Amino acid sequence: MSHSSKSMSPVQQLELNVTDLKQYLYCPRIPYYFYVMPVPRPITYKMQHGVQEHVELDRLERRRGYRSYGLTEGQRLFHLQIKSETLGLYGKLDLVITYEKKGAVHYLPVEFKHTEKGVAANAKYQLAAYAMLLEEHFQVPVDEGIVYQIPTKTYNIIKITDPMRKYVKDSLSMIRRMMLEETFPDPWSRFRCADCEFRRYCNDIH
Ligand code: SF4
Repeated sequence: MSHSSKSMSPVQQLELNVTDLKQYLYCPRIPYYFYVMPVPRPITYKMQHGVQEHVELDRLERRRGYRSYGLTEGQRLFHLQIKSETLGLYGKLDLVITYEKKGAVHYLPVEFKHTEKGVAANAKYQLAAYAMLLEEHFQVPVDEGIVYQIPTKTYNIIKITDPMRKYVKDSLSMIRRMMLEETFPDPWSRFRCADCEFRRYCNDIH
């Protein structure tokens, strides 16, 4: 964690990863278990399988044309790492496509997901957070991105709106507050627990 800027409040100073946001929106206990009460994190089959699949996907993605993205040409940036001092946020994007339109350079963030169930809300806000990092870093508006569902080979265009940007900022503040106050949070929904790798630590739920 960085404590670099003297002008920021203690809450703003806690630097977060975009994946913290994604996990917080899935269940606030996950960043709590990561930052406040660290527990050993199991490497699940899903995680191992996901890494292998991402490597294969990178290989296929390099050969794919730009038509899938509704473009005739562009350039791919894989695993771009960006950090924002303003947001106190950093992250590594799966893929960014850059292209020119009307004389301006545009940036299209792409996230790969291992799901057949449609695009979850936390994945949309993860994409919005990446769009905000791109906006600040390249000083251009990023008004849409793509979530690519690997099993179904589906491209989902996600519009990035101002309410989404605000929700991202508000959620980051809530994570930081939870970290500072060390409050053990309740889950957003207990329906997610059956599928959760941290369930062994949530004895109050089961
Ligand atoms: S088991 Fe349930 S309450 Fe515990 S971290 Fe997972 S989703 Fe949250």
